Amino acid sequence: MNAADQMIARGIARRLLPWFRRHRRDLPWRRTTDPYAIWISEAMLQQTQVATVIPYYERFMGRFPTVQALAAAGLDDVLRMWSGLGYYARGRNLHAAAKAVVDNFGGELPSDVASLRTLPGVGAYTAGAVASIAFGKRAAVVDGNVARVIARLFAIREDVREPGTRRRIWELAEAMLPSRACGDFNQALMELGATVCTPSGPACLVCPLRNGCRANLLGATDVIPPAAVRAAVRAEVHVVVAMECGGLWLFVRRPEDGLWGGLWELPSALAEPGNERTIAGQLARRLSGAAVSISPNAFVRLEQQLTHRRITFVGFTCRSKSRRKIENGQWRSLNKVDDLGFSRAMRRVLDGLRAAVEGKRARVASA
Ligand code: SF4
Repeated sequence: MNAADQMIARGIARRLLPWFRRHRRDLPWRRTTDPYAIWISEAMLQQTQVATVIPYYERFMGRFPTVQALAAAGLDDVLRMWSGLGYYARGRNLHAAAKAVVDNFGGELPSDVASLRTLPGVGAYTAGAVASIAFGKRAAVVDGNVARVIARLFAIREDVREPGTRRRIWELAEAMLPSRACGDFNQALMELGATVCTPSGPACLVCPLRNGCRANLLGATDVIPPAAVRAAVRAEVHVVVAMECGGLWLFVRRPEDGLWGGLWELPSALAEPGNERTIAGQLARRLSGAAVSISPNAFVRLEQQLTHRRITFVGFTCRSKSRRKIENGQWRSLNKVDDLGFSRAMRRVLDGLRAAVEGKRARVASA
C-alpha cells in the first residue's frame, strides 16, 4: 500500500463514525449486544436485503433464542424457520455451527476471527463482523457494499471480485480500522454503502467522505467499480408429481447438497419443455412402484426466478393404490405440513394444489 493510500485510509474513521452515530438505522440486531443474535443477523444479511431479513430474524430469534436452543433443534425445524429466505445452506450451516459452539466452545460463541472461522459456514466476512460488532475486536469486514465504497474511495478500477483486487480491498479495509469502535466503524461502512454510496447514483453531495474520495474527485463514480458481467440466466423446467392415496399426499425431502438442500417438496424431476407429462408419468411410476395414471392437465404451471435460474414448475396429480414407503418420504395430509420446511417456490406449488383440490371438491358438491 502506498503512502497516499495510507493517508486516505487513516482519515476515514474520523469522518465516518460521527456520521454513523447521527444516521444509523434502528435495526433489531443493533439493540442487542448478544453475540449469538449478532451472528444470526449477519448470517441472514448475506445476500439478503435488510427489509427482508427483519421479520425472519425476529421469528428465528423467537423460536431459537439461544445457541443451545438452536443446537438442540431438529434440522427440519431450522429450515422451516428459514423457509422463503433463500440460500438454504446458510440455515444448515447455522444449525451445524450452533452444535459446534455447544460441543467445542462450551456454548459460548468464540470471540476471535480464527476460532469463529472454524465454524461451518463462517467465512472471513461473518467472522470479522461478529468479532468486531459483538466483541469489539479490531477485525475488518468486506461485503459487497464495503467493496464498492472502498473501490470508489481509492479509485480502484479493477473488478472487485478478482482475487487480487479482493486482497487489496481487504488490506485497505484493515488499514482503515480505527483503534477503537471497530464494530461501529464496520457497520458505518456497510451503512454508507447501503444508503449513500449505492451502486448507481451515489449521493456524493451528502457523503461524509466526499472530500477525500478519488472516484468523486475524478467524476468517475459511474464507472468505479466496473459493472459486473452478469452470469446468463438458465431456464429449467421442473415437473412436480402430487401423489395422493386415501387423503394423504407424498412429500419427500431433497438431498442435503444442491438447490433447496434438506427442504421438503412434492416429488419433482427435471424435464424438457414439451415432455413434462411423460417425465411426470415416469416419476409417478417410480414412486408408486406400479402403473399409475397422472392427470391429463397440469394443476399448476408457474415460474420462479432465482439468481441464475428461471424455473418453470409444471405439476400433475395422480392417485396411488398404496402408500409405498419411500426413503426420505412421508405421506401427509395437505393441511398438516406446517412443520416441514419448503422453498418459496414449493409453497406456491402447494397453494396451487390446495386450490385445485378445493375446486374439485366444490364441483363434486354442486353436481
Ligand atoms: S463521495 Fe460518493 S463515491 Fe465517494 S464514498 Fe461518498 S458516496 Fe461513495
